[in-house]
Amino acid sequence: MRALVTGGAGFIGSHLIDRLVARGDTVVVLDNLSSGKLEFIQTHLDSGSAHHVLGDLTDFETVLSAMKGIDCVFHLAANPDIRLGTRVTDTDLKQGTLATYNIVEAMRRCEVQKIAFASSSVVYGENAPLPTPENHGPCMPISLYGASKQAGEGLISSWVGTFGIQAWIFRFANIIGTRGTHGVIFDFIHKLKADPSRLEVLGNGLQEKSYMEVEDCVDGILHVMEHSNNALNLFNLGSHDTASVRRIAEIVVEETGCSGASIEYTGGDRGWAGDIPRAMLGIEKMLSSGYNVRFNSEEAIRHTARALIQEIGMPGDD
Ligand code: NAD
Repeated sequence: MRALVTGGAGFIGSHLIDRLVARGDTVVVLDNLSSGKLEFIQTHLDSGSAHHVLGDLTDFETVLSAMKGIDCVFHLAANPDIRLGTRVTDTDLKQGTLATYNIVEAMRRCEVQKIAFASSSVVYGENAPLPTPENHGPCMPISLYGASKQAGEGLISSWVGTFGIQAWIFRFANIIGTRGTHGVIFDFIHKLKADPSRLEVLGNGLQEKSYMEVEDCVDGILHVMEHSNNALNLFNLGSHDTASVRRIAEIVVEETGCSGASIEYTGGDRGWAGDIPRAMLGIEKMLSSGYNVRFNSEEAIRHTARALIQEIGMPGDD
């Protein structure tokens, strides 16, 4: 199969490409390298299994030319920084909503039939029952990023209904693991590297969310795509439990060896405006497809902290 992976040089995309190449796919990577790194996929570029197109999804002609001859699109490119929407209000609209329009329209013009889309638990907003099942509604996101994910889902669903494409929409929990370039564990390690004596935590630390290890996530995507065949397939992907930000801070302090660090909370029930303090996805549908995760939230956090400390390094490391 010839796959187009948008955002393929990124954190989740590069792990997905590892799996696609392992199963024999040829991969076209469309990525503007705004947060992705070619080193994550260098072995596949060198072997010729993957080919990188340096371009931006907001440019329709670039998307159209990358779409030629593709069998399946994995649309992962997006602005990864939810907090950015508190300062810049058109990034998610352009990099999320309009970019997704360019993808589905290019699919229509090139007669590409299949798409998998990286959506998020944040589409559910903050008043959803926990754990939240896929059929919860109405979905009322409270961040600009969440709005762009919901808009992307709507565009894809409308292309399914109007132009007969087949789609898999995945609402991810918090995905963590090696090659992470953002997120709470990454931030905590960087803060402790800069000052091993204190760790500032945004909010009161009681925010509670599910964490899924990245290899569990990409294995889940491919498993679900092989085991569901509706025109539109909607799946939450997450783990069985949650962990608090306080617990993450403790684990990172432990794993970095900064045992003397004082953990200081900025206060308030959330990290920033638009953050959802408590989130847990219902994963019954994922489990019913025959897929289960290897790691629970806390195991995934510890595994990720160890791996990122190796990648980032701490003062005194050789
Ligand atoms: P990431 O930042 O590592 O990957 C995004 C990639 O897209 C990067 O390589 C970046 O360079 C590229 N990109 C961004 N804008 C682009 C544009 N306009 N044109 C071309 N390339 C562009 O982020 P990630 O964590 O790997 O996230 C992948 C997808 O999963 C995103 O859509 C994200 O919203 C979604 N998601 C992630 C999480 C998570 O916890 N990491 C949770 C829910 C959903």
